[in-house]
Amino acid sequence: MTTTTTTDYNRWLDWLDGRQEAMLARLIQWSAINSGTRNIDGLGRMAERLTEAFTALGPATAEALPLPDGEEIGPDGAPRPVPYGRLLRFAFNPQANRRALMVIHYDTVFPADSPFQTPRLTDADTLHGPGVADAKGGICVILAAVEAFLRSPWGRDLGIEVLLNPDEETGSLGSAPLLVEAAGRAHFALLYEPALPDGTLAGARKGSGNFSVVVRGKAAHAGRAFHDGRNAVVALARVVGALHALNAERPTITLNVAKLEGGGPTNVVPDLAIARFNVRTESHADQHWAEDRLRALIADANATAEDGITVTLAGGFSRPPKEIAGRTAALYDWVKAAGGVLGQPIAWVPTGGCCDGNNLAAAGLPNVDTLGVRGGLIHSDREFMTVSSLTERARLSALLLMRAAAEGLPWEDGR
Ligand SMILES: [Zn+2]
Repeated sequence: MTTTTTTDYNRWLDWLDGRQEAMLARLIQWSAINSGTRNIDGLGRMAERLTEAFTALGPATAEALPLPDGEEIGPDGAPRPVPYGRLLRFAFNPQANRRALMVIHYDTVFPADSPFQTPRLTDADTLHGPGVADAKGGICVILAAVEAFLRSPWGRDLGIEVLLNPDEETGSLGSAPLLVEAAGRAHFALLYEPALPDGTLAGARKGSGNFSVVVRGKAAHAGRAFHDGRNAVVALARVVGALHALNAERPTITLNVAKLEGGGPTNVVPDLAIARFNVRTESHADQHWAEDRLRALIADANATAEDGITVTLAGGFSRPPKEIAGRTAALYDWVKAAGGVLGQPIAWVPTGGCCDGNNLAAAGLPNVDTLGVRGGLIHSDREFMTVSSLTERARLSALLLMRAAAEGLPWEDGR
């Protein structure tokens, strides 16, 4: 195999330097479109803009695949449908033998009625706005990197599938099956969650699951028939204490009781109470341990509760932990080497956060998941990104695509 030197790639990377202003203008437009998860109208408007931008690159296929509705426990304790919107899929060079998957979400955590809606530059290199880092900046990076790659002499030698999902911020419950399917078609994946402000990537990621405990009792008038009632709030309080105590049993998991609902007027014995909680794990063994302990805890709560009280558990783990080992470790080293060539020092740190990279890793696809823009304070109304990282990150990704096409992947024979 002939070795292609970095100088050969430079000409195509330098083209990206002239794209900075256009990338920023596009990001400002995209940030101003509210695409909070479940805001189906806003997600639809965003999907139209994205489809325009990616079809301009001439993909072999462009699809907007409707996701089936999900389900959640509503405030009445019963399951209700959750709409997710459409997953966008753009495929380039389907004839190529080597294939990359590029993934990021176009939903944000900011709902349609959030006060945080407007992007603004606070200095020449800092853009504040909803989704500017997480993860619309990352979509701008994918778009520019793919365009640079397609213009290069290697632009037909790598299959690229771009997937943009509308439901990541609530755990990708609707898009997960399509992501797993796409993982089976690709050799490696690049994901565009934001990097830390100094460019550090996320390494190992914890797994995560969301759960609801629903306690049903019996309503009664607190004055006239107190002893006929069965108090769901009091029963839930016991369960919540037991849930929190799991943190002390196993230091490698965290269980966060996040929200309690239940009760009403003070003269009514409450018949419904709900607790919502999140569990994070470091390993598959942690996940199995947590599933077993939760089952046992709910069984025990039912066995010891007063007659007329029932306790049920809904939810589950949607993100398995991601470990940096094997081909994933080789891919991180490969990205680090490319960063070195571009004068971008690249390091990575473990994180408690999780993303679609967890699920792709669990499906056996090596991936690096924080190749988006540099930024921070995500999920808050102070979210920002560093403007100069648009071209910086696009150069890195374009180099990765060209190298994959021209030189192959780090675990391939002949390297
Ligand atoms: Zn994100």
